[in-house]
Amino acid sequence: MSQTTGSGEVAVVGVTKRFGETTAVKELSLTIPHGSYCCLLGPSGCGKTTILRMIAGHEKPSSGDIRIGGQSVIGLPQVQRGTAMMFQSYALFPHRSVLDNVAFALKMRGVGLADRHAKARELIEKVQLEKFADRLPGQLSGGQQQRVALARALITNPRVLLLDEPLSALDEFLRLRMRGELRRVQKELGITFVHVTHTQLEAIAVADMVVVMAQGHIEQAASARDIFVAPRNAYVARFVGGQNVLSGSVESTMNGVAAVAGRNGARYAIPVGDQRPMRGSPLWGSIRRDRVAIEKIAPGAKPSTGLNAVVGEVHTLENQGTYVKVTLDLANDEEFVAHVPDDSFFAQPLDIGERVVARWSASDVKLLDDALIASDSAPAGAVMATAR
Ligand code: ATP
Repeated sequence: MSQTTGSGEVAVVGVTKRFGETTAVKELSLTIPHGSYCCLLGPSGCGKTTILRMIAGHEKPSSGDIRIGGQSVIGLPQVQRGTAMMFQSYALFPHRSVLDNVAFALKMRGVGLADRHAKARELIEKVQLEKFADRLPGQLSGGQQQRVALARALITNPRVLLLDEPLSALDEFLRLRMRGELRRVQKELGITFVHVTHTQLEAIAVADMVVVMAQGHIEQAASARDIFVAPRNAYVARFVGGQNVLSGSVESTMNGVAAVAGRNGARYAIPVGDQRPMRGSPLWGSIRRDRVAIEKIAPGAKPSTGLNAVVGEVHTLENQGTYVKVTLDLANDEEFVAHVPDDSFFAQPLDIGERVVARWSASDVKLLDDALIASDSAPAGAVMATAR
């Protein structure tokens, strides 16, 4: 039986990939530990599929090295790499049963019928499709076909499974179920999964390690929790979502906290640790949407703001079940978002068009490293909400 052994640590070492004039991946280095679930996350065209294809051996780097288990795999066929790929289109053979679809790769490797069916049944059990082993793919739901594709990819005992947008063809309900399944199977097998997605919450939900990419390079590679609660810069904060980005110019710094002047009189306290930013220099911070409190303004009253508060008009209200997403239009035409727990929201509901103060605590603000922000930086003084 075909068996790949050895560590599933994947190292991308100083890799550049050019397609003619386009540089899809630029001097990128990344180590994905053995047995971890890694998501490559980024907008369309940022190079994530190209990285996956280079790990799989479908593309060759223009320069740099790809190592699996410490060994360079450049030029090696997939069988010797110990990788397998699962695609968003399941590409199952329509006239073969589930059992034969799953067993197919072993047939190609010359494994006898009894052995390959035994192994296929083992995997069919792992993805909980025992009852469907004799069906044709056309007799299965989308979610079941997806499980067949997973079992089929795993039959060669890969040490690294590469998943290219594996859930994008499923409806919302199945997507949520299947992502839990992927995570469960990955933990059970203990092999490395590298999963490409442009869906932030999918990455946060399944991954041990999330790699946020932009234009062929990495903006941040960290645990899913850190990516969400401690984004490194404004790009990651905005792309991953769940944050408002604050910026302005430094007025003064005292006891590790900078007072920053934003646009339209807004002022923020941004913790800077032992850094001493120069007066007048731009500074960036982020505040989680669920750490922002909304206060109503009594008719005719002049709101008191001070540090860490902005005044805005309610633009949209979206009930998300456990919280309500409140989007404010600020005086400077920027957006600001608060996630208000459902209990507090419905105790004192807001109306669209109502003027409110959004307030937060200085201790919840995180410093962003604006030096890392690429060309998409906003002008100092802007308050930017994240995209979603
Ligand atoms: P998506 O989410 O849309 O799949 P991606 O982040 O996976 O995007 P890639 O498919 O890796 O992005 O593409 C990165 C860049 O390289 C893009 O500008 C793309 O047009 C270019 N590119 C990818 N493959 C080729 C190719 N075979 N020939 C020419 N250009 C390519």
